[in-house]
Amino acid sequence: MGQPAYREKQIFKWICRGAQSPDEMSDLPLSLRNALKENAGFESLKILSFQQSSDGTRKYLLGLDDGNCVEAVFMRYDYGNSLCISTQVGCAMGCRFCASTIGGKARDLKAWEMLDEYIAICRDTGESINHLVLMGIGEPFDNYAELSHFLKDIHDPEGIGLSYRNITVSTCGIVPKIEAFGDDFPQVNLAISLHASSQEEREALMPVARAYDMERLLRACRAHGEKTGRRVTFEYTLIEGKNDSLESARALAKLLKGMLCHVNLIPLNPVAETGLKASARERAEAFRSYLEDHGVPATIRRRLGADIDAACGQLRKNSSTEVER
Ligand code: SAH
Repeated sequence: MGQPAYREKQIFKWICRGAQSPDEMSDLPLSLRNALKENAGFESLKILSFQQSSDGTRKYLLGLDDGNCVEAVFMRYDYGNSLCISTQVGCAMGCRFCASTIGGKARDLKAWEMLDEYIAICRDTGESINHLVLMGIGEPFDNYAELSHFLKDIHDPEGIGLSYRNITVSTCGIVPKIEAFGDDFPQVNLAISLHASSQEEREALMPVARAYDMERLLRACRAHGEKTGRRVTFEYTLIEGKNDSLESARALAKLLKGMLCHVNLIPLNPVAETGLKASARERAEAFRSYLEDHGVPATIRRRLGADIDAACGQLRKNSSTEVER
C-alpha cells in the first residue's frame, strides 16, 4: 500500500492488544484506516462455546473463518495463567489413544490463527497469560514454518513479548524438526510425547515410531539437551496393560538414565473410541517411585479440568453436543 515500514509495527501492536477493526487504531491516519478496511481482512477466531471446570480451567471451542474449529485451554497455576493452543485442525499422526487424530488432519493453522487463539482468550478472560504450551490439537512439527513464524510473532517485544522460556512445544517425535528446533529456538522448552519404554511398545501406540525409531529419537533428545542446556520433558501417558508395568518402568529408567530430562506421567484421559483405560492411581504411583528411585526425575501431572472434556481433541469431537454460549 506504499506505506512506510513503521505502519506495519503500529498495526501489529494494535492486533496484539486485541483490536478487532482499523477503527480502533487511533494512531493511524483516517485515510489509512479506511484503506485497511477496504483492502485487508480482520477476521478473528470466534469463541463458539466453552466449558468451565470447577478448578478454574476453561476449555474453548474456537471457530475459524472457513467453518473449521479447534480447541484451546486456559489454566490457572500458582505461577500464573497458562494457555494450551492448537496448531492444526485435526492431526495426521494417528496416536492410538488420542481424540485429536480421529478423522485425520483437515489443514494446518496459519501463524496468525495461532496468535489469534492467544489474543481471543486474553480478551475473553480479561487476564494476562504468561505461559504458553503448544499441546492442543495437531502436531506442531508437522507445521514447522507457520509454527516458527508464530513463535517469533508472540515473542516480538513490540507486541505481546512472551518470553521464549515460558513457551513449551510438544512433539510426537519428528526427529529432523527436533534438530532444527534446537538451532532455531534454543530457549523454547521442548516436550516429547514418548509414551513407551521400548520401540515395540511405542510402535503399538504411535505410528510415528515407525518413521523415527526410539534410538534415533533419544539420540536427538540428548543432543538437544547438550546444545541448549535445557531439560527435555518426556510425556508418558499411563495406559492400563500397555505401558504401565514395572518392567516398562525399569526399561524406561535404563533408557533415560543420566539424561538431562524430566518425565511427566499423565493419567490417560479415556476416549471412548479407543477402548483404552487409564492406569490405576497406585500403579501410576509405583511407576513414578521406580523412576525416581533410579535417578530419573518424574511427576504425575496434576489433573485440571477433570470434570470437563479435558483430553486433547475431545471438545471438537463432541462439539455437536456442546451448549452454545
Ligand atoms: N502432537 C503433539 C502435541 C499435542 S498432544 C504431541 O504429540 O506431543 C499433547 C499431549 O497429550 C501429548 O503428549 C499427547 O500424547 C497427549 N495425549 C493425547 N491424547 C491423550 C489422552 N487421551 N490422554 C492423555 N494424554 C493424551
